[in-house]
Amino acid sequence: VKKKASQYEKQAGKVAQAAVLGAGIMGGGIAYQSASKGTPILMKDIKEEALELGLKEARKLFAKQVERGKLGTDEMAERLSNIRPTLSYGDFGHVDLVVEAVVENPKVKDAVLTEVEGLVGEDTVLTSNTSTISINRLAQNLKRPENFCGMHFFNPVHRMPLVEVIRGEKTSDAAVGTTVAYARAMGKTPIVVNDCPGFLVNRVLFPYFGGFSLLIEQGADFQRVDKVMEKFGWPMGPAYLLDVVGMDTALHASEVMAEGFPERMAREGKTAIQVMVDNDRLGQKNGRGFYAYE
Ligand code: NAD
Repeated sequence: VKKKASQYEKQAGKVAQAAVLGAGIMGGGIAYQSASKGTPILMKDIKEEALELGLKEARKLFAKQVERGKLGTDEMAERLSNIRPTLSYGDFGHVDLVVEAVVENPKVKDAVLTEVEGLVGEDTVLTSNTSTISINRLAQNLKRPENFCGMHFFNPVHRMPLVEVIRGEKTSDAAVGTTVAYARAMGKTPIVVNDCPGFLVNRVLFPYFGGFSLLIEQGADFQRVDKVMEKFGWPMGPAYLLDVVGMDTALHASEVMAEGFPERMAREGKTAIQVMVDNDRLGQKNGRGFYAYE
């Protein structure tokens, strides 16, 4: 991408009303972040329990801010009311930007994106928070691919400052600009990147995980590697970070990277990450990964 994120912003449309599809780990976090910074957001899921969980998490994060004296209780109620949970597409006609954050399955994403494209206005920007699916591939079934791009947040959304805005071959400058401006309004730092496996961050991160995996396959102690990387100055080591990301998620992403860059990323035999998944050590999500969690 030749232009910087800020150069696209000149063509940005205003996002007065946003929507997020999926109220899971990422969708809930995106709803909280948008609401917290003042942009009303519809949070749509297919399960009532997911909506309840998403709201509960948002309430918890707002309550923490109240505890720390950063937010009054009235303000908390006002910001929380910026999130409108819904099981229907009723109000999608008035949405300026949609972030799709449903399960990482291309067929489900295709179905959801084409469905929502038929309900929103002609100028509504559609984005996907996918980590591994090509933006050009998702654009294929859309009638207005120029209004579509990637908007890739990192977990946990409220803490991770970066957002990758992924420009597909057909994405217009205006759609990129609107997405960049919305990320900025959410208090994030957007970067505009081209569509490729791993986008930018995971292209750097996964060779690092691969290097770590090789080290422990050769007998290194994962806790010592973590300590060394912490002493090096990183906030956490690779084993702990893999526990946070989730071993199954990491395995899937490393397979996508290996397919995209076979000469650099493909490996013979089972990697340490694969062995962890085989042993149901998925990380923090199921209470046991490299480390054990309560
Ligand atoms: P999740 O499983 O926690 O949440 C997915 C939610 O989507 C669920 O609540 C599910 O009920 C809902 N859903 C499924 N079908 C739907 C539909 N048709 N309409 C509306 N909602 C529907 O998943 P997640 O971890 O939040 O991941 C969501 C997306 O974000 C994936 O594409 C993933 O690759 C991406 N992502 C995840 C992370 C991460 O660390 N978890 C980081 C960056 C990006």
